[in-house]
Amino acid sequence: MNEKFESFLKHQKRLAAYNAAFALLGWDEETLAPSGATEKTAELEGVLSGEVYTLQTDPEYKALVKELMKDPALSEDERELIRKTEKEIRLTDAIPKELYEKEAVLTSKSMAAWQEAKKKNEYALFLPLLSEMIELKKEIAKCQNEDGRPLYDVLLDQYEEGFTMERLDAFFGLIRKEIVPLLKLAKNGNKRIRTDFLGRRFPVSKQKKFNRMIAEYVGLDLNRAVIGESEHPFTTGLHMDDVRITTKYRPEMVADTLFSTIHESGHAIFEQGHDERYAFVPASSISMGLHESQSRMYENMIGRSEAFWTPLYPKLCRAFPAELGDVTLTEWIRAVNRADATLIRTEADELSYCLHIMVRYEVEKKIFNENYPAEDLPKLWAELYREYIGVDVPDDRQGILQDVHYAGGMFGYFPSYAIGNAIAAQLYQAMDREINVEKVLREGRPEKVKAWLHDKVHVYGGLRTVDRILKDATGEPFDPKHYVKYLKQKFKALYKTDAPVK
Ligand code: ZN
Repeated sequence: MNEKFESFLKHQKRLAAYNAAFALLGWDEETLAPSGATEKTAELEGVLSGEVYTLQTDPEYKALVKELMKDPALSEDERELIRKTEKEIRLTDAIPKELYEKEAVLTSKSMAAWQEAKKKNEYALFLPLLSEMIELKKEIAKCQNEDGRPLYDVLLDQYEEGFTMERLDAFFGLIRKEIVPLLKLAKNGNKRIRTDFLGRRFPVSKQKKFNRMIAEYVGLDLNRAVIGESEHPFTTGLHMDDVRITTKYRPEMVADTLFSTIHESGHAIFEQGHDERYAFVPASSISMGLHESQSRMYENMIGRSEAFWTPLYPKLCRAFPAELGDVTLTEWIRAVNRADATLIRTEADELSYCLHIMVRYEVEKKIFNENYPAEDLPKLWAELYREYIGVDVPDDRQGILQDVHYAGGMFGYFPSYAIGNAIAAQLYQAMDREINVEKVLREGRPEKVKAWLHDKVHVYGGLRTVDRILKDATGEPFDPKHYVKYLKQKFKALYKTDAPVK
């Protein structure tokens, strides 16, 4: 046993203790905390954040990491973990402590302002804190910019190592070229798809029961996870044995809730599947795209397939006989895969989803590359929605106020969702060659899917890069052509013929 590496893991555990406290407070703020708690909780988060900063920049810890950088006895995964940690320390070190604490306090306050602004549908209530957040993020990115890169590249790299604007412009260019014609095909074909039943009122108490069942069915271990409720569904975790997901119930949106639960379960299954030895390695070292690939694969490629619902649809009909008694499995599948031009990202279909991401990517590029004024962002948002998706934004609640990310200061995060889709398609095709996904799903054995993903992805957590995981699992590095192929096959089948979607 390498003693130095063990001391390193011990220090990571101390950091994990603070991060768990953060996760718990964050979870609480979104689910149960009283609205009056915001200010003082934010102050405490500022204190905790200062402690994390002290631990991260502890001279002994830094020296230990430096020494381990040169240790030839480390395994490949250990070396990779040390490399990432050294980078993280460098990035934290670059930020003055007062900025670090300011960020935590501002995040908490701006989250509260955003919630209020969204509720009242009034961008002006969020604008002062958003402007402050943008300025703070610019200041932090300037501190962290080691080699004179554009500021937005500095932010992007923190969520998705190696994905620069140059790489993303090419990726989004390809996707846009392919999606726009498919979305036109969808617009013409939608009248052949029945959707009336999706708006029926499905009692929430029954939905809760079914959502719990389906989360467990896809592989979520509910002894080590809970399902809560929040305005914006999310996954967080104290550690791999306490993972928390949320969902949002509305009687007339049964499908949205179901697929959102499957999505968050995909995130949580990933977190539950890490190697025990690295249980306290911070989640921040995981590629966000890789994380999203797991949730989106479960939600879309598995969860919306006809094979997945073959054993489950009779159960759904038994749970909701009045609501689904006159709906066939084929009608259900076609309805939940229907693509359309809409306003809300989290409710968007699989096909148009990446266009919603592209709007945000362009907005963020303008903020960070061109100093675009924050007060004009709703206007820019509306222009881009018209250009990319062809819809008019009627108000801020359905426009720029819809997402939590800017309130949380998460600029640079959105592209990970799109990258995640592409990673998922690449992984899915390799998995299908090995285990015949459709067959195992039809037979009601989703545990085969979980086992494959566990061995190839989950167990590595944040230890390996996206390209390394993809190379080992699929034989090649990241390549979006698999995603394009998947979308073309799926949506041409859905709209060109009346055959069920695979
Ligand atoms: Zn997600």
